[in-house]
Amino acid sequence: MNTLSLVSNASFLIYAMKIDLQLAENTKQKNCPSCGGKLHYARYQRKGRIGDLEMPADREGLLDWDTFHSLCCTREGCRKRVRPPSVRFAGQSPYSSATLLLAQLLTLGASQKSVLALCKILQVSERTVRRWLRGWEYIHAKSIWWRRQGSIFNLNGKSLHELWILLQTQKNLEESFKYIILNVAELWQEFKFYVGYPSPAKDA
Ligand SMILES: [Zn+2]
Repeated sequence: MNTLSLVSNASFLIYAMKIDLQLAENTKQKNCPSCGGKLHYARYQRKGRIGDLEMPADREGLLDWDTFHSLCCTREGCRKRVRPPSVRFAGQSPYSSATLLLAQLLTLGASQKSVLALCKILQVSERTVRRWLRGWEYIHAKSIWWRRQGSIFNLNGKSLHELWILLQTQKNLEESFKYIILNVAELWQEFKFYVGYPSPAKDA
Protein backbone atom coordinates (compact mmCIF):
# COMPACT_ATOMS: atom_id res chain seq x y z
CA MET A 1 0.00 0.00 0.00
CA ASN A 2 1.40 3.39 -0.91
CA THR A 3 0.62 6.78 0.65
CA LEU A 4 -1.87 7.68 -2.00
CA SER A 5 -3.92 4.54 -1.56
CA LEU A 6 -3.88 5.11 2.20
CA VAL A 7 -5.39 8.58 1.76
CA SER A 8 -8.06 7.15 -0.49
CA ASN A 9 -8.87 4.36 1.94
CA ALA A 10 -12.19 4.80 3.73
CA SER A 11 -10.77 3.53 7.03
CA PHE A 12 -9.02 6.91 7.22
CA LEU A 13 -12.45 8.52 7.57
CA ILE A 14 -13.43 6.27 10.47
CA TYR A 15 -10.10 6.90 12.14
CA ALA A 16 -10.49 10.69 11.82
CA MET A 17 -14.03 10.51 13.21
CA LYS A 18 -12.86 8.55 16.24
CA ILE A 19 -10.11 11.06 16.94
CA ASP A 20 -12.51 13.98 16.66
CA LEU A 21 -14.87 12.38 19.15
CA GLN A 22 -12.00 11.85 21.58
CA LEU A 23 -10.72 15.41 21.12
CA ALA A 24 -14.20 16.76 21.83
CA GLU A 25 -14.56 14.60 24.92
CA ASN A 26 -11.17 15.79 26.24
CA THR A 27 -12.20 19.41 25.69
CA LYS A 28 -15.53 18.78 27.43
CA GLN A 29 -13.82 17.42 30.52
CA LYS A 30 -11.75 20.57 30.91
CA ASN A 31 -14.95 22.61 31.48
CA CYS A 32 -15.65 26.15 30.25
CA PRO A 33 -12.46 28.19 29.66
CA SER A 34 -14.30 31.40 30.71
CA CYS A 35 -16.14 30.43 33.88
CA GLY A 36 -15.22 26.83 34.69
CA GLY A 37 -18.83 25.70 34.22
CA LYS A 38 -19.76 22.33 32.79
CA LEU A 39 -19.86 21.97 29.03
CA HIS A 40 -22.40 20.07 27.05
CA TYR A 41 -22.62 19.09 23.40
CA ALA A 42 -24.30 21.52 21.03
CA ARG A 43 -23.56 19.65 17.84
CA TYR A 44 -24.43 20.97 14.44
CA GLN A 45 -24.10 19.92 10.84
CA ARG A 46 -21.18 21.17 8.79
CA LYS A 47 -20.63 20.43 5.18
CA GLY A 48 -17.41 18.50 5.02
CA ARG A 49 -15.70 17.75 1.73
CA ILE A 50 -14.09 14.38 1.37
CA GLY A 51 -13.79 14.35 -2.40
CA ASP A 52 -14.18 11.03 -4.08
CA LEU A 53 -13.94 9.02 -0.87
CA GLU A 54 -16.86 6.87 -0.02
CA MET A 55 -18.11 6.88 3.54
CA PRO A 56 -18.20 3.32 4.88
CA ALA A 57 -21.73 2.05 5.56
CA ASP A 58 -20.66 0.63 8.90
CA ARG A 59 -19.54 3.63 10.93
CA GLU A 60 -18.92 1.64 14.08
CA GLY A 61 -21.53 3.59 16.01
CA LEU A 62 -20.02 6.97 15.10
CA LEU A 63 -22.12 9.92 13.95
CA ASP A 64 -21.99 11.33 10.42
CA TRP A 65 -18.87 12.89 9.00
CA ASP A 66 -20.77 16.19 8.77
CA THR A 67 -21.59 16.32 12.49
CA PHE A 68 -19.39 18.81 14.27
CA HIS A 69 -18.94 18.16 18.01
CA SER A 70 -19.39 21.74 19.17
CA LEU A 71 -19.66 22.42 22.91
CA CYS A 72 -21.54 25.01 24.93
CA CYS A 73 -21.24 26.17 28.55
CA THR A 74 -24.25 25.20 30.65
CA ARG A 75 -23.94 28.12 33.08
CA GLU A 76 -26.63 30.80 32.77
CA GLY A 77 -25.11 34.16 31.79
CA CYS A 78 -22.05 32.54 30.18
CA ARG A 79 -23.21 30.04 27.56
CA LYS A 80 -19.86 30.29 25.84
CA ARG A 81 -19.44 28.23 22.70
CA VAL A 82 -16.32 26.10 22.75
CA ARG A 83 -14.88 24.63 19.63
CA PRO A 84 -12.87 21.47 20.18
CA PRO A 85 -9.92 20.74 17.93
CA SER A 86 -10.77 18.68 14.88
CA VAL A 87 -8.90 16.62 12.36
CA ARG A 88 -11.90 16.69 10.04
CA PHE A 89 -12.32 20.44 9.62
CA ALA A 90 -9.48 22.89 9.07
CA GLY A 91 -10.92 26.03 10.65
CA GLN A 92 -13.61 27.36 8.37
CA SER A 93 -12.54 25.22 5.49
CA PRO A 94 -14.86 22.36 4.60
CA TYR A 95 -11.82 20.24 3.82
CA SER A 96 -10.54 17.89 6.44
CA SER A 97 -7.43 19.28 8.12
CA ALA A 98 -5.94 15.82 7.97
CA THR A 99 -6.65 15.74 4.25
CA LEU A 100 -5.02 19.12 3.82
CA LEU A 101 -1.90 18.07 5.62
CA LEU A 102 -1.69 14.80 3.78
CA ALA A 103 -2.17 16.54 0.48
CA GLN A 104 0.72 18.76 1.41
CA LEU A 105 2.88 15.89 2.56
CA LEU A 106 2.33 14.12 -0.70
CA THR A 107 2.81 17.10 -2.97
CA LEU A 108 6.03 18.16 -1.25
CA GLY A 109 7.94 15.22 -2.59
CA ALA A 110 5.61 13.82 -5.14
CA SER A 111 5.79 13.48 -8.87
CA GLN A 112 3.39 15.50 -10.97
CA LYS A 113 1.52 12.26 -11.67
CA SER A 114 0.88 11.66 -7.94
CA VAL A 115 -0.25 15.26 -7.44
CA LEU A 116 -2.79 14.86 -10.21
CA ALA A 117 -3.96 11.52 -8.79
CA LEU A 118 -4.45 13.19 -5.42
CA CYS A 119 -6.40 16.05 -7.02
CA LYS A 120 -8.67 13.46 -8.57
CA ILE A 121 -9.34 11.68 -5.26
CA LEU A 122 -10.01 14.90 -3.39
CA GLN A 123 -11.80 16.47 -6.35
CA VAL A 124 -9.82 19.66 -6.11
CA SER A 125 -7.82 21.56 -8.67
CA GLU A 126 -4.08 21.49 -8.77
CA ARG A 127 -4.20 25.20 -8.00
CA THR A 128 -6.01 24.48 -4.72
CA VAL A 129 -3.41 21.93 -3.71
CA ARG A 130 -0.64 24.41 -4.52
CA ARG A 131 -2.41 27.03 -2.40
CA TRP A 132 -2.56 24.62 0.52
CA LEU A 133 1.10 23.98 0.07
CA ARG A 134 1.97 27.68 0.26
CA GLY A 135 -0.21 28.03 3.39
CA TRP A 136 1.48 25.05 4.94
CA GLU A 137 4.97 26.39 4.34
CA TYR A 138 4.01 29.54 6.17
CA ILE A 139 2.31 27.72 9.03
CA HIS A 140 4.51 24.82 9.90
CA ALA A 141 7.81 26.65 9.78
CA LYS A 142 6.67 29.05 12.50
CA SER A 143 4.96 26.56 14.74
CA ILE A 144 5.79 25.27 18.20
CA TRP A 145 4.52 21.97 16.81
CA TRP A 146 7.30 21.88 14.24
CA ARG A 147 9.96 22.74 16.85
CA ARG A 148 8.67 19.89 18.99
CA GLN A 149 8.84 17.44 16.07
CA GLY A 150 12.36 18.73 15.50
CA SER A 151 13.45 17.79 18.99
CA ILE A 152 11.66 14.41 18.95
CA PHE A 153 13.08 13.33 15.61
CA ASN A 154 16.28 15.35 15.61
CA LEU A 155 15.26 17.08 12.40
CA ASN A 156 17.74 19.93 12.42
CA GLY A 157 16.66 21.99 9.45
CA LYS A 158 14.97 19.14 7.64
CA SER A 159 11.75 19.65 5.75
CA LEU A 160 8.29 18.28 6.40
CA HIS A 161 8.68 15.80 3.61
CA GLU A 162 11.88 14.56 5.21
CA LEU A 163 9.97 14.04 8.45
CA TRP A 164 7.45 11.97 6.50
CA ILE A 165 10.25 9.80 5.09
CA LEU A 166 11.90 9.52 8.51
CA LEU A 167 8.65 8.46 10.15
CA GLN A 168 8.40 5.59 7.76
CA THR A 169 11.81 4.27 8.71
CA GLN A 170 10.56 3.99 12.31
CA LYS A 171 6.93 3.06 11.84
CA ASN A 172 5.03 1.39 9.06
CA LEU A 173 3.12 3.50 6.60
CA GLU A 174 -0.19 3.18 8.38
CA GLU A 175 1.29 4.11 11.76
CA SER A 176 3.08 7.11 10.20
CA PHE A 177 -0.20 8.21 8.68
CA LYS A 178 -1.99 7.92 12.02
CA TYR A 179 0.78 9.83 13.73
CA ILE A 180 0.38 12.72 11.30
CA ILE A 181 -3.40 12.78 11.63
CA LEU A 182 -3.20 12.74 15.42
CA ASN A 183 -0.80 15.64 15.38
CA VAL A 184 -2.59 17.80 12.88
CA ALA A 185 -5.34 18.99 15.22
CA GLU A 186 -2.76 20.39 17.59
CA LEU A 187 -1.06 22.25 14.79
CA TRP A 188 -4.18 23.86 13.39
CA GLN A 189 -5.26 24.87 16.85
CA GLU A 190 -1.96 26.52 17.56
CA PHE A 191 -2.55 28.80 14.64
CA LYS A 192 -5.90 29.82 16.01
CA PHE A 193 -7.94 28.80 13.03
CA TYR A 194 -10.58 28.37 15.68
CA VAL A 195 -10.63 31.93 16.98
CA GLY A 196 -13.85 33.81 16.36
CA TYR A 197 -16.37 31.03 16.38
CA PRO A 198 -17.54 30.82 12.78
CA SER A 199 -21.20 30.56 12.05
CA PRO A 200 -22.21 27.25 10.51
CA ALA A 201 -23.36 29.19 7.45
CA LYS A 202 -19.75 29.98 6.60
CA ASP A 203 -19.05 26.31 6.24
CA ALA A 204 -21.63 25.80 3.59
ZN1 LIG B 1 -18.92 29.35 30.97
